Amino acid sequence: MHAVWAKQASCDIGCGLMTDVVDQAKRSRMMSGIRSKDTKPERFVRSALHRAGFRFRLHARLPGKPDVVLPKYHAVVFVHGCFWHRHAGCRYTTTPASNATFWQEKFAANKQRDTAVRRQLRRLGWQVHVIWSCQLNQPKMDALIARIRFAKGSKS
Ligand SMILES: [Zn+2]
Repeated sequence: MHAVWAKQASCDIGCGLMTDVVDQAKRSRMMSGIRSKDTKPERFVRSALHRAGFRFRLHARLPGKPDVVLPKYHAVVFVHGCFWHRHAGCRYTTTPASNATFWQEKFAANKQRDTAVRRQLRRLGWQVHVIWSCQLNQPKMDALIARIRFAKGSKS
């Protein structure tokens, strides 16, 4: 198990994610709670994209640190938590009852930063895609994949 993780960590383009889904699910159950919780949405999106044939870079130095960078498509993907990034109309986009002002200011700042980051990336020529954490299922991934491919096709 350790060897698998070491290999994954050293791979810059996500090759380690080629392990099949069953293996991954089993491994995440074996991992300690906090760590697997933190990385699960990103991992879901990355492995779905990888299965679809996309090759990507992790940890690219771009505004907002996108979760996935697809150089060939000139596209980036953000995996956004609905609560923190305020997914409009989503049932997870709740506001805590106490300290309402604090939360409203925090959420407003988050939204402002997201907008600024998207604008910066677009100015640099990147297609920006967002997938929300409530949308981590295959139909939504298929839609995302179609959008990425379409965006590339319409550019060339
Ligand atoms: Zn949502």
